[in-house]
Amino acid sequence: MRHRFSQAMQTLKCMNCAGPVFYTRRYSGESLCSACFRQSIESKVRRTISKYRMLKHGERVAVAVSGGKDSLSLLTIMAKIVPKHGSELVAITVDEGIDGYRDESISNARLVTERLGVPLHVISYKQLFGFTQDQAINTRTGKVTSCAMCGTFRRRAIDVASDQLGVEVLATAHNLDDMVQTFMINLMNCDLKRLGWFGGTSQSERFKVRRIHPFMEIYEKEAALYAFASGLPMQSTHCPYMDEGIRSSIRIYLNSLEEAHPGIKNMMLKSALGVADRFRQSRTESTRCVSCGRPSTGELCSTCELLSTFPASSIPVETPVS
Ligand SMILES: [Zn+2]
Ligand SMILES: [Zn+2]
Repeated sequence: MRHRFSQAMQTLKCMNCAGPVFYTRRYSGESLCSACFRQSIESKVRRTISKYRMLKHGERVAVAVSGGKDSLSLLTIMAKIVPKHGSELVAITVDEGIDGYRDESISNARLVTERLGVPLHVISYKQLFGFTQDQAINTRTGKVTSCAMCGTFRRRAIDVASDQLGVEVLATAHNLDDMVQTFMINLMNCDLKRLGWFGGTSQSERFKVRRIHPFMEIYEKEAALYAFASGLPMQSTHCPYMDEGIRSSIRIYLNSLEEAHPGIKNMMLKSALGVADRFRQSRTESTRCVSCGRPSTGELCSTCELLSTFPASSIPVETPVS
């Protein structure tokens, strides 16, 4: 496939250095060789970080690394940017306990962090909650989907790991496609509260650690190409519990829109940020969870609420201590 791709592109030359073209950006018309393409992604991430004031000098920064191509790309780029801000960089990986799936991504995370010289901290559901995701799936009683359940537990695991490491900023690899999909899901669910949370930096009252999304202006396809062009390891297995539901339909729809109207995803991100600005004023005040004491928008935080749906006798549920 690579051979056919390069044959089709061999007549084109990189607009910067006249090298062989690796990628043509349809929405801007730029044709770039592999090195110039990588550089363009790195500069865009730098611009995003400064535009949304994501980093402050000297802060301790963590990247949430799943071991997939997006997070490994983000880590690679952050390892070039963060030290220039006089800041320290660490990587956090959550081991959910998914047999036959997680081992490969954790070993990819280990490989890349070692190569970059970034310390890696692995935190597991088993350590934190007393059960693995495999056990949780088999024991759940509520109607919660596996992805929603995993998302809630993973957020908590990352929060706890950030506390343990004394991290002030957490970078996640959400790309432009993820961001626009999330916006559309919230719009369809009429979730006005979440519409107001949308943005490159999370609201500080929701999390102790500031969350930033340096890839929010990077197309999913370009994040994947960056990983490929950088020789990053690619995971061969998929999560066995993947149930994307509405997100998958929106993803297909957005990709077909982009095909017909290159650049429309960029426009949608801008619109989403504008809408979020309007809704931010009506944001609900955050309080503390009565069970674990962490920031929460209700009496119980989402983690404690979810933990309460498990039958106490079946798994040794321990409320995490912050
Ligand atoms: Zn070039
Ligand atoms: Zn709680």
